[in-house]
Amino acid sequence: MSKPRPPVALYLHLPFCLARCPYCDFVVYAGGDARGPRARTEHLYAAVARELELRADALDGRFGRPDVGGPREPLRSVYFGGGTPSLVPVEWLERLLAVVRDRYGVVSDAEVTLEANPGPEERGDPAAFRRVGFTRISFGAQSLDEGELRRLGRRHSPDDVAAAVAGARAAGIGSVNLDLLYDVPGQSLAAWETTLQAALALRPDHLSLYALTLDDPDAEGITGREGDHLPTPPGARRWRERARLEQDEDRAADQYGLATDLLAAEGWRGYEISNWSRPGHESRHNLAYWERRPYEAVGPGAHAFDGVVRRWNAATKDPYIAALLPAQGAAAEPPGGRETITPETATSERIILALRLDVGVPAAWADRSPLADSREWAESAGLLESMEVGGEARLRLTLRGRLLSNELFARLV
Ligand code: SF4
Repeated sequence: MSKPRPPVALYLHLPFCLARCPYCDFVVYAGGDARGPRARTEHLYAAVARELELRADALDGRFGRPDVGGPREPLRSVYFGGGTPSLVPVEWLERLLAVVRDRYGVVSDAEVTLEANPGPEERGDPAAFRRVGFTRISFGAQSLDEGELRRLGRRHSPDDVAAAVAGARAAGIGSVNLDLLYDVPGQSLAAWETTLQAALALRPDHLSLYALTLDDPDAEGITGREGDHLPTPPGARRWRERARLEQDEDRAADQYGLATDLLAAEGWRGYEISNWSRPGHESRHNLAYWERRPYEAVGPGAHAFDGVVRRWNAATKDPYIAALLPAQGAAAEPPGGRETITPETATSERIILALRLDVGVPAAWADRSPLADSREWAESAGLLESMEVGGEARLRLTLRGRLLSNELFARLV
């Protein structure tokens, strides 16, 4: 049985957006819930700062204060996600980072990421972000086709993406990611290639390419009082029903294959199923998730993991603020849930997460694990292949395996 371990990374969820994109399932407050007195944005930021202190108190008690070479090392990655954290006033970003440095410690070469939208009203001031300590910006570009951006309900143009990347570079941001979507309604293979080529012409360091997924969190039962998702608004639900009709699995597979070939030819490394980078720009934060390292997390809907227990905050904003900023008495943990991961589940998770990476898993893992039962099937179906890294025999997904990974992963749980 594994033991709890201190976090190597920290995630902060800041949930405000100008408007809600109809496909989005993140914990987001938009429109009137993100502006004006009803939004209580300042209260939310103060509650996140309070939660940072509360979680740090607990870590101090379990593992001691952060110290280089000690049992609790300073953080290697801090990630401000959302929502649109680039909308948060810089003074608040600076205050939150000051609490993180003081209570968690941050190594001198840490990756400190801010998610941003590229539109002129949303991208904020990259020079100020650099000044307060962000080293990486991840832009939600989604597409570089004007019509697709409109269909997706985005509020920026391809030129805005170019201006956002140029602004980040001019400010000295060392690593820039673009998120892009494929399997977008009405998106031909040629249009996807045009978006990829336009993205490469902007010379980002990292690309996250996701198939547009249109889930239904209500049907999955994760939108209740303690749930980590918010209900889907009726308009978004109707949009998804229409959009689903214009998606196509075969076209999506071709789009994925095209991206794989094109980026490999440009010298990019597809280090994870959905992520490509120039050498040295792999996302340290996301690698912590896939390598199943422990991470702390604060904010509505955020998930934390200490190696044994997975903990989550409920998505609803007002109970979150009420617990952390009570009118009377001491702050309490916000509502949410927790789950102890059994050794069997831990083994399955470790294999599934590692198989997402291009370095795969040690072949020896297939001797005694759920992989032992599925290896032969997966190899004969062309989903798994053998390779060697530093003299060690390993197994990894083929391109076909990446496309059909869910079929293999379902056998491993
Ligand atoms: S901007 Fe991003 S986080 Fe906000 S609603 Fe759109 S997809 Fe969701």
